[in-house]
Amino acid sequence: MLRYAVLLSAFVLPCAFAAAPDPALVHARTLLKSAILIDGHNDLPWEIREDPKTPMDLEGYDLRGHAPNETDIPRLKQGQVRGQFWSVFVPGELKEGFARTQLEQLDLARRMIARYPEAMELALTAADVRRIAAKGKVASLIGMEGGHVIENSLGALRTYYDLGARYMTLTHNVTLDWADAALGEPRHHGLTPFGKEVVREMNRLGMLADISHVSADVMRQVLDVSAAPVIFSHSSALALVDHPRNVPDDVLRRMQANGGVVMVSFVPPFVNRANRAWHVELDKRVKGAPPGTDPKQIVEEFTRQHGPEPQATLKDVADHIDYVAKVAGHDHIGVAGDYCAGAVPVGLEDVSKYPDLFAELIRRGWSDADLKKLAGDNVLRAMAQAEQVAKRLQKERPPSIATIGALDGKK
Ligand SMILES: [Zn+2]
Repeated sequence: MLRYAVLLSAFVLPCAFAAAPDPALVHARTLLKSAILIDGHNDLPWEIREDPKTPMDLEGYDLRGHAPNETDIPRLKQGQVRGQFWSVFVPGELKEGFARTQLEQLDLARRMIARYPEAMELALTAADVRRIAAKGKVASLIGMEGGHVIENSLGALRTYYDLGARYMTLTHNVTLDWADAALGEPRHHGLTPFGKEVVREMNRLGMLADISHVSADVMRQVLDVSAAPVIFSHSSALALVDHPRNVPDDVLRRMQANGGVVMVSFVPPFVNRANRAWHVELDKRVKGAPPGTDPKQIVEEFTRQHGPEPQATLKDVADHIDYVAKVAGHDHIGVAGDYCAGAVPVGLEDVSKYPDLFAELIRRGWSDADLKKLAGDNVLRAMAQAEQVAKRLQKERPPSIATIGALDGKK
């Protein structure tokens, strides 16, 4: 009997497990071989900096094996990622040392890229991305997250460009002297005159203005000022989930004239309404708690009363992609996992999962041509356009020596 069972399993089990491959997934994997899949935002450099065991240590945080968190080389390969904007995030809440921390993160990201020459290469232009991706490596771009790091200095902005930064998210979650953050205090009703000069100087350099994280007023004013395409490096659709980090319809509709790209984020509270509502209630509870209450205790009690955090799924992300494609157009959309930054949706647990997302869109009727645009062609077009604008502007005007004091009357 036993022998029979063993024999039977030898024949039956492999067949039982080898279920027919999902045709949409096979299609997605084939398509991604000839596409350039570029993700807009991954916080791996901050995870390496903050690693509890070996902080800031690239030897300790090895990407060739199974690394902690959601990103490493084997999983990037499985996910068919060919381009990545590595975020050199610096928290806006630091009391001091914005520039120093930014320089350290730029150094860390550049050392990380250099450490794996078989798998990564620094990319500074759209042409670099195409060349590096063609070699089967991850074209590694650098994006700065939070304009506080320029410390109100256009000289600092230019130096960051020289060190490789190719986008700057104008704010993170804290309002700056020159721009309001989506989750910060509304102080300026958008950009100040110096804030507008920052955008113009980014145009002259060829650094993409990233308007994720800024207030809706800032989004609109950047679109008024910018001579080059903008990006949202990680935001989703406000009409589907009412979160201030998401993009309103009027701004989505302006992507066409601007040439910009909304790289749709996977962040659970941005893509799932029930998840967002749960967090709103929890935040109220946290804010209303007596000072000194253990936040863990608040979450535990809240979960007992309201149930666990509702899960966002891959389908929610696909809904946002469908919506942004409908309102902004298929030429103005990209993807941004925002991995290594916190929670992830079911079905998109790590960087190996992008093909599953493309398979879902194939099931929803997306054409190969539109999927290639979504994967990376759109953002490459925006980059190339921004490079052309920069070439023209560099002939027209010198580097700006404007100061926040002269433009905004601040020191
Ligand atoms: Zn962010």
